[in-house]
Amino acid sequence: MQPFIHSGLPGRVLFGSGTLCRLGDEVRRLECAHALVLCTSGHAQQGQALADSLGPLSAGVFAGAVMHTPVDATEQALASLRGSHADLLVSIGGGSAIGLGKALALRTNLPQICIPTTYAGSEVTPVVGQTLGGRKTTQRSPAVLPKTVIYDVDLTLSLPAAVSAASGFNSMAHAIEALYARDANPLTSLLATQSIARMAGALPVIARDIKDPEARSEALYAAWLGGTCLASVGMALHHRLCHVLGGMFDMPHAFTHAALLPHTVAYNAGASPAAMDAVREALATPLPAPRALHELGHSLGIAIPLRELGMPEAGVKQAADEVCANPCWNPCPLRRDPVRTLLRNAWRGHAPHEFD
Ligand code: NAD
Repeated sequence: MQPFIHSGLPGRVLFGSGTLCRLGDEVRRLECAHALVLCTSGHAQQGQALADSLGPLSAGVFAGAVMHTPVDATEQALASLRGSHADLLVSIGGGSAIGLGKALALRTNLPQICIPTTYAGSEVTPVVGQTLGGRKTTQRSPAVLPKTVIYDVDLTLSLPAAVSAASGFNSMAHAIEALYARDANPLTSLLATQSIARMAGALPVIARDIKDPEARSEALYAAWLGGTCLASVGMALHHRLCHVLGGMFDMPHAFTHAALLPHTVAYNAGASPAAMDAVREALATPLPAPRALHELGHSLGIAIPLRELGMPEAGVKQAADEVCANPCWNPCPLRRDPVRTLLRNAWRGHAPHEFD
């Protein structure tokens, strides 16, 4: 076994069905008196109901969270927060609501409780991404790590099949990049393979019946594991591309992950054969990992070309240039022409290219 370093992150997790009703106890456990509830505008009613359920522990609702955490939305929320007497942030929703909580925590050091309703995994990571002027940047800070995460499987039963599948691919992307991460270790690899296997097992069941409680439970558990992978080790080309495209073209985050994943895995396949074997084993497939992911995406109806997700054709060159001008670490070195090939294939919705 190779020597390794693993830094465990603090955080309390409640997982189950009906766990939302424990929120009040968790607020008191943190010795907080007034929680500001954060959500997107589409979930304003849910946010208000949650605030009402907190009674005197509520400091109101801010229902203006937006995907990719634009700084102007954070500034509006900050003004609302300052006008309240909140000493705790409670975010409920997908990565958009949770991202806002983290951006506010970064600026105020307030504690957070997160209640995730998608499989994005942000709730367990010390990572915050923010967008300003068409550029999305990420940073790691312990200040944005929530104190408590409440996973309530019941809240995920309403997530539409396609969003569930795309969000599941977002989670699998965390786990796959963790397998070939420079700082991967046996624990994160164990979490990653479990996460991929359980998510890949659950998604086809959810596609048939979005309310299947067992599959929903499996998927949410897999999302926690996937998020823990993202929290623990460095990511590579796949995440970088998703952030660049998200910032440049305001693309839907989870669907962009789903569209790109087979292609970015193909790019890195030759440089990370052990990770590819682990992915194939987790997916229980005889196919090469990129092909298996491409086919899984097709069968779930989320293999959507990037051109249909809002990316202009000129974006192929623009995004490849941006990624290669400021390259992140990646198992296979980042070179403009192959990155363009990858993006062009994903833009057209073709099968992943077989890179040398
Ligand atoms: P999202 O939060 O915007 O949710 C996607 C869609 O699903 C929205 O329309 C939302 O209203 C809907 N939705 C969410 N939960 C629902 C439910 N239970 N029932 C019905 N509809 C529901 O998108 P996302 O993909 O969850 O998160 C994307 C954001 O999260 C991006 O900004 C991304 O950068 C960020 N993110 C951050 C990290 C991190 O570690 N910092 C990790 C992953 C994602």
